[in-house]
Amino acid sequence: MRSAEIIAVGSELLTPEKTDTNSLWLTEKLGEIGISVMLKTIVGDDEPRLKEAIQDALKRSDVVITTGGLGPTEDDITRQVTAKALGRELVHRPELEEELRERFRRFGREMPEINVRQAYVIEGAEPLANPNGSAPGLFVEDAGRTLVVLPGPPRELKPMFETHVRPRLERLGDGMIVRRRVLMVAGLGESAVDEKIAPIYQKYENVRTALLFTKTEVQVHFYARAEDVESAEEVLNELVERSVAELGDAVFSTDGEAMEEVVGRMLRERNETLALAESCTGGLIGRRVTEVAGSSDYFLEGAITYSNAAKTRVLGVPAETIEAHGAVSAETAEAMAAGMRERSGADHAVSVTGIAGPGGGTEEKPVGTVFIGIANAGGVRSVRIVLPGDRYIIRWRASQAALDVLRRSLLRADRASGGRDYSLT
Ligand code: AMP
Ligand code: MG
Repeated sequence: MRSAEIIAVGSELLTPEKTDTNSLWLTEKLGEIGISVMLKTIVGDDEPRLKEAIQDALKRSDVVITTGGLGPTEDDITRQVTAKALGRELVHRPELEEELRERFRRFGREMPEINVRQAYVIEGAEPLANPNGSAPGLFVEDAGRTLVVLPGPPRELKPMFETHVRPRLERLGDGMIVRRRVLMVAGLGESAVDEKIAPIYQKYENVRTALLFTKTEVQVHFYARAEDVESAEEVLNELVERSVAELGDAVFSTDGEAMEEVVGRMLRERNETLALAESCTGGLIGRRVTEVAGSSDYFLEGAITYSNAAKTRVLGVPAETIEAHGAVSAETAEAMAAGMRERSGADHAVSVTGIAGPGGGTEEKPVGTVFIGIANAGGVRSVRIVLPGDRYIIRWRASQAALDVLRRSLLRADRASGGRDYSLT
């Protein structure tokens, strides 16, 4: 497999203000065409260090990609420094300058003279057109290595890579390609997932598997290496089918769909509606549900009822229920869901009440204790879970668990013969 490395250029990328996302995106795209990223570097706008980084990279990697530093200002030095690193001249290309002037004219502006430097190309390099910006990229072959110089803004880099770089790198390659599939799993831990599917994926020699625990779910990434896309997809289909057979309903997505998209799709298919009553998640579930375009088709409303008084006033939770069982209890969660369903008229109401921490835990209800209530045609029920993690993680996992309770309830209703069985077990 050919090796690649990425050099992200820009002093801002060394600060907390700006994260280098280009290299992550490029790593995935290069993987798809059988090129493995082994190393990446972030270099500030510093000439000697950048020059050295490029020269070192070209000693050890088949493909070197730089991103950023192609702008017209003084601090953008990648073009000049790359030329120096290769020991080549920068050559003025009048046709590129004319294109740049034309681009500025289209926007009704005169090209600032400093932009002329973007019309310089490293001797022997191919300029790569940039329809989304002024800086062209560069594709250079040097002593059996390939150096690709790309602009920093992701909306310029991505189309340039797809249109100009990917086809060129594919032609240079050994013909092997890589395709990825991601299984997303809810309600099972990383080791439980691995225990179930390791015996399956270990049998595939040309598949690399990685398990990832994100803030909301376990993701299983399968990378299949094959001679062509069809063969890779065939292997992935088989592997995914066998893994899903083993993991069952815990798999909520096999094509990259997020939980809120899965639940939204299921509600839309059923022509049913949802309302939310949130406490410890503070509106996070509502935010996630409404981030999906078109969610107004099925999402009616949500309430953040943080105080006891609000739970009573907004949702009609009896004060005695809270008094007797606590705000974090099965009884309160169920009363919240029932109250929200009744008041909103939604088909499904989901509620969450819990202890996100760091304070507030007791022996009986430690930090991370969360009750999720659900009310629908099948009645009112709740589940209790105890989530690990800090406040941020607990809130995210609680939001995921709440959506998962709804998803499983909808799944069971599908399966129940001749009716709606929304039971939780
Ligand atoms: P530059 O080409 O260095 O002038 O960068 C232009 C803009 O692109 C910067 O202000 C950043 O917002 C963005 N950018 C540069 N490098 C990266 C990177 N590695 N990842 C994400 N964004 C980047
Ligand atoms: Mg820069």
